[in-house]
Amino acid sequence: MKPLLIAGNWKSNKTTADALRWLQDFKNHTGTIPTYITVVLCVPFTLLYTVKEKIREYSLPIVLGAQNVSPFPEGAETGEESARMVRDLADWVIIGHSERRKNFHETDDVLQKKVEQAHLVGLKIIYCVPDDRTPIPAHVDVTAYEPVWAIGTGKSDTPENANMVVASIKATSQVKRVIYGGSVTTANVASFVGQPSIDGVLPGGASLDPEIFAALITNAR
Ligand code: PEP
Repeated sequence: MKPLLIAGNWKSNKTTADALRWLQDFKNHTGTIPTYITVVLCVPFTLLYTVKEKIREYSLPIVLGAQNVSPFPEGAETGEESARMVRDLADWVIIGHSERRKNFHETDDVLQKKVEQAHLVGLKIIYCVPDDRTPIPAHVDVTAYEPVWAIGTGKSDTPENANMVVASIKATSQVKRVIYGGSVTTANVASFVGQPSIDGVLPGGASLDPEIFAALITNAR
């Protein structure tokens, strides 16, 4: 079995009470996850501490990720979470999500700085790109191919086309692991991870419900 990464992205959703309910439910729905599957849950900064504590308390088979990091080192940067602060709580971080590129005007230069900061403190990096032409900085651990039109729309790419783009990303960059994101569901996850070049998935909407997320992990086996 090839190693698979399933990275759930809660985006800007859930209060502490919502997250606690999710964790309690997920605990009851997830069985044993085979060692070849790594499940990362990327939550808002406000939930990192709570989710980290519950993962430990419930011995959940998931690792914790953040969804953003400052491009600056620790210091006078009001409202920013430095990589060192994020590393205190999380093992992974998503950088370059299309929502941040579009809504927060994050450029390739800024994203490069975020990757440098994250790398310095040992955060593992999931770097999102919309196609196979977008530059990918050094030190990225996993790239996520996420066509913008497929994110949150219910219209996923075809597994065959996603596989072609992922193969092209691998052929034209240093990146060895590439996952697919864009309307991944319990129904289509197997068709994506079954493709030879795709190393996992990044579900957003399908990670919000613990039963659905657990089913998606089961179906990826
Ligand atoms: C995402 O969160 O990057 C994503 C692809 O969302 P969704 O699965 O809802 O399309």
